Amino acid sequence: MIKQIIKDADILEQPVSREPYTKEALAEVVQDLKDTATHAAKHPPGCLGLASNQIGHLRLPVIVVRLLDEWYVMINPVVTKAYGGKNWQREACLSFPGKNTKMQRNKRIRVNYVDEDGCTHPDAMFSGFKARVIQHEIDHLNGIHI
Ligand SMILES: [Zn+2]
Repeated sequence: MIKQIIKDADILEQPVSREPYTKEALAEVVQDLKDTATHAAKHPPGCLGLASNQIGHLRLPVIVVRLLDEWYVMINPVVTKAYGGKNWQREACLSFPGKNTKMQRNKRIRVNYVDEDGCTHPDAMFSGFKARVIQHEIDHLNGIHI
């Protein structure tokens, strides 16, 4: 279902709680994220990723990232290692329309997450722009935004 994107900083600054979840609840969150991100991508400024708390799911930490038509669905993602130095780049956010902030990010990260099929990826490596988008979305789950 296409959800409204939350723009209230007070809500967005509360970390998503990591509670046990059912398969059905997870499927709903993932579908809502994909539907909302797909819808948002059709309109400027576009959409590269979305976190569950941006659409009102505050108890199940999930992010979706879509780059070059490839979806990444990450449940409970945690950055376990950052390396390769850092760089600065401007970022926008659907929750803060018009805002464009220079953010410092790690160039390479390793992430522990569960995918939508329930498979654990204990040590997935991402770099460059993909790593930047993933860090932006994981920040959201921790109550951090641009
Ligand atoms: Zn954002």
